[in-house]
Amino acid sequence: MFGLMMDTPLLIKNIALHAERNHARQEIVSVTSDLGVHRYTFGEAISRARKVTNVLSKLGCSSDARIATLAWNDFRHLELYYGVSCSGRVLHTINPRLFADQLIYIINHSEDEIIFFDTAFTGLLESISDRCPTVKAYVAMTSENHMPTSSLPNMLCYEELLHAESSECDWPDFDERTASCLCYTSGTTGNPKGVLYSHRSTVIHSYALCMPDAASLSAHDAVLTVVPMFHVNAWGYPYSSLMVGSKLVFPGPKLGDAETLIGLINDEGVTIAGGVPTVWLPLLEHLKKTGQGVPTLSRTVIGGSACPLSMIEEFRDDFGVQVLHGWGMTEMSPLGTVNTHNPQTIEYTGAAMQEHLVKQGRGLPGVELKITDEQGQDLPWDGEAFGTLKVRGPWVCSDYYKLSTASSAHDGDGWFDTGDVASIDANGYMKITDRTKDVIKSGGEWISSIDLENVAMSFPGIRECAVVGMPHSKWQERPLLVVVNKDNDNPVEVSEVLRFFEGKVAKWWIPSDAVFVGELPHTATGKVSKLTLREELKGYQFPDDG
Ligand code: AMP
Repeated sequence: MFGLMMDTPLLIKNIALHAERNHARQEIVSVTSDLGVHRYTFGEAISRARKVTNVLSKLGCSSDARIATLAWNDFRHLELYYGVSCSGRVLHTINPRLFADQLIYIINHSEDEIIFFDTAFTGLLESISDRCPTVKAYVAMTSENHMPTSSLPNMLCYEELLHAESSECDWPDFDERTASCLCYTSGTTGNPKGVLYSHRSTVIHSYALCMPDAASLSAHDAVLTVVPMFHVNAWGYPYSSLMVGSKLVFPGPKLGDAETLIGLINDEGVTIAGGVPTVWLPLLEHLKKTGQGVPTLSRTVIGGSACPLSMIEEFRDDFGVQVLHGWGMTEMSPLGTVNTHNPQTIEYTGAAMQEHLVKQGRGLPGVELKITDEQGQDLPWDGEAFGTLKVRGPWVCSDYYKLSTASSAHDGDGWFDTGDVASIDANGYMKITDRTKDVIKSGGEWISSIDLENVAMSFPGIRECAVVGMPHSKWQERPLLVVVNKDNDNPVEVSEVLRFFEGKVAKWWIPSDAVFVGELPHTATGKVSKLTLREELKGYQFPDDG
C-alpha cells in the first residue's frame, strides 16, 4: 500500500524560492577582483539568477546543456549555481588547478556549450580553447569596463548580458532525478571521472548538512566558504545556506590568504567555516603571529584529508573553536560522516578524548557505512578491525558520467567502494586509517600512516608532514616520515622526532627514518599527494637497509 502524500519533486529551485520568500534580506559578501568587497542580498542574487537563465536561453543553449564555470567563490558563481541548475541545465564546475590536458579532457567529455570564467583564467583558456570544439562562447564574469583583451573566440561580458535581460522567468518543474551539477574527481591516475549530481541528491544532502549533528546551520550563522565552489559544490554550503538563511561570505580569489580570511571572519561575524587542513595551517600560524583572535567563529568543518589532533586542540584550546572533523568524497556530494559528540563521548577525558577526536565521525542519517575484509565479508564494528570502507545512500553516486565501462567501485548490491581503509567503533564512529593506495605493509602487517602523522604533528617544530611506505628488503615496506620544518633555522632533529613516537604507537610502527623537504606536493584539491611524494623519494634507502 502506498502512502497518500504529495509527490512534489525535490528541486534546487525550491531552495531558491524558499530563500526569496523567507530570507530575502540576508546578506552575501564577496571578495572580487573587479568590485572590491561586494555586498548584496539573497533576494538580489535570486533575481539575477533568473537573468542568468534568460541569458542561457538567449544564447541558444540546449535544454540539458552542460554549462561550465572556471571561477573562484563569489556572488556571480552563486548566481550561476542557481541560474543554470534551476533552468534544467547542468552546471559543470571546473577546477582551474588541473593540468591543461585534464581540462581539455573534461571540457570535451562533458561537451560544455558555454564557459563562464573569472578574468584571472583568461590566459589559461586562451591556451586550450582551440582544442575545445563544443564551446560556443566564453563569458567573462566581470563588468564592461573590466573586460580583458583576449583572443578567445566569441568572448562575452557577464554584466552586459545580465543587464540586457529581464529578471522575470518561471523556472520549470521536472523530474527530481534530473542532473543538476557535474564535478570531475581529480584522480591521481587515469582520466578524471565525472560525478553527476541530481536535484534530488542535492536537496537531500542540503537538508543533511543543516542537521545539528552535521554543520547545524541556521539563520543566525554566517558561513565562510573556504572550500572552492569548483570542488564538490563547496561542500554544499551554497545550497544549505540559502535553505536556512545563513549569511554567505565568499573569499573570491583570496581563498588561500590567511590575512584576508581572518579579516572576513572578524569583519563579517563569521560563525562557521569549512575547508581542508592545509587551509587552516597558515591561518592558525597567522593568528598566533599577530595575536589576533576569531571571537565570532564557533566551529570549523575540517575534512578532505585527516585533520591532525594538534589542529583540533589548537582551535579548541587557543581560540575556542570546535572542529567538526568530517569525511566525504566528490562521489558523496560530499558529506559522509561528521564527528560530533554523543552523551558518552562528551564525558571522555585525556587520551580517550584524544583518540576519539581524530575519528572522522558517524554516518549522517541517509548514509550507510560498512567495512569489509579482502573477501568482501563484513567486519565487526568494534573499533579494532579495519578494512575497505563501503557506502550507499541517496547522495552517493551510482555510477560515473559517460564511462565506457561500468564502474568497478560499485558492487552488485549497490555499495560503493570508497577506496579508503577504516575501522568503526561500537558507537558508529568511523576512523580512516589510510587510502587503500597509501597503506603501508610492513612484514605483512598494516601500519596506519594517518595515525603516525597525527603523532608527528604534535611534535613542536613540525609544520606539515606525511608518512609514506618505502621499499625495504627485509620488511617489504617501512614507514618513512617526511617533514616540513616550521623554522629552518631551528630544524627538527631526526633522532628526537623518532624518539617522540615511543610509547605512543606500537614499537614496530615507529618510522624507520625521517627526511626533510621544503614543501610537500599537493593535489589540485589541497591534499598531500603521496603518489608524487613517493616518486620524488624514488631511490631513497633506509639507513638499516643496504
Ligand atoms: P575528494 O573526492 O577529492 O574530496 O577526496 C575524497 C577522499 O579524501 C576520501 O576518499 C578520503 O581518502 C579523503 N578524505 C576526505 N576527508 C577525510 C578525512 N577527514 N580524513 C581522512 N581522509 C579524508
